Amino acid sequence: MEFGLSEELLAMKQAARDFTEKEIVPHADKWDEEHHFPVEVVKKMGDLGYYGCPIPEEYGGIDVGFLAQALITEEVGRGSSSIRVAFNTQCLGTALSILRHGTEEQKKKWIPDLISAKKIGCFAITDANAGSDVVAMKATAKPDGDGFILNGSKTWISYASRADVALAYAYHDREKGSKGLSAFIVDMHLDGVTTTDLDKLGTRSSPTSEIFFEDVKLPGDALLGKLGDGVKICFGSLNQTRLCCAAGGVGLAQACLDAAVQYCNEREQFGQLVGKFQMNQEQIATMAADIEAARLLTYRAAWQKDQGQLGNTLEMSYAKYFAGETVTRCAHTAMKILGAYGYSTEYPVARYYRDAVLYQIVEGTSNIQKMIIGLDQLGFRKANR
Ligand SMILES: Cc1cc2nc3c(=O)[nH]c(=O)nc-3n(C[C@H](O)[C@H](O)[C@H](O)COP(=O)(O)OP(=O)(O)OC[C@H]3O[C@@H](n4cnc5c(N)ncnc54)[C@H](O)[C@@H]3O)c2cc1C
Repeated sequence: MEFGLSEELLAMKQAARDFTEKEIVPHADKWDEEHHFPVEVVKKMGDLGYYGCPIPEEYGGIDVGFLAQALITEEVGRGSSSIRVAFNTQCLGTALSILRHGTEEQKKKWIPDLISAKKIGCFAITDANAGSDVVAMKATAKPDGDGFILNGSKTWISYASRADVALAYAYHDREKGSKGLSAFIVDMHLDGVTTTDLDKLGTRSSPTSEIFFEDVKLPGDALLGKLGDGVKICFGSLNQTRLCCAAGGVGLAQACLDAAVQYCNEREQFGQLVGKFQMNQEQIATMAADIEAARLLTYRAAWQKDQGQLGNTLEMSYAKYFAGETVTRCAHTAMKILGAYGYSTEYPVARYYRDAVLYQIVEGTSNIQKMIIGLDQLGFRKANR
């Protein structure tokens, strides 16, 4: 077993940290306060190749793998959970699915523009009635001549209102049950596509929107994979987007620890640094140990993907679940350690606190991850199939 990172990976992680410190950290609170989506930063990360780690060079990627992707995501997530989302919208939830299931024409048409962030992407699974229960979605894409007519709505879709392209899931045939679900690459500038932004507690510089599809005429080549491949593509994709979530959660948890340690070394009460109090030391130690465990689970899942095990649902659920719980606990602990200053907007800990809970919700809630793990352990349904 090899636990060390290669020099190349360490250098990539450091470069992503330097980028985040320079381009993101100084502005993240202001962007959040103003609900500003810094598209220029998302595009700059595209120029740096950040979204192309698991994508071959022939489609514009840098082909360095999933572990590299996780390391970069962790560092960016340490600076801003809102910008961290871009790793999913530009690659793991969009370009990577097109790479795995698309025709050569689709790959050439969409992947280079997504991973360079020339085009902003989004992936649209959730609708008003279908969150965890993905197949309960209502959107339809009825075959019509050579193409399809897309109708319905999606909600809680990250980056949708700024997106040029969506990987959207809809039923081509409801009668067939889950076999009637398909995946479509939707040009968001087509007639009949509109969006409305939603307000939310955290990640406020990541726009999240409803999408309305009204008689949208999709060309035949919008279909990704075969008719009826929707469930396979969607769950295969969630298993990759969870990596981004786990890595981002580790990054944000680390930011919480960093803020708590710094405060413990600055603030004095009762004539000594608050870090000298054992109760604070215990909280720092617990955070550090939890973060290290979440990090190792995340790196292991990424490493497995680099070995070709993209279907590592079980190990991915361990990582996503544990990172989501860890970051939520760490944000709460950091808030406690900073006291009133944690609650103040003067320090980023208030933003960390608001952003952290999202990691328990997206890409399958903590309950859903536990369901996957529990069913596997009990032998009712194997997670890795
Ligand atoms: C900021 C934000 C960004 C998002 N971005 C995207 C995006 O880009 N694309 C996209 O498609 N979606 C996106 N989502 C949607 C997200 O994936 C869903 O919110 C998530 O899947 C949970 O669905 P839900 O919120 O409808 O909760 P529900 O499914 O309604 O669940 C409600 C509660 O019941 C629990 N529950 C549900 N089923 C079970 C079960 N079988 N066993 C045990 N407990 C269960 C859940 O854990 C939860 O606690 C985003 C959401 C947010 C908040």
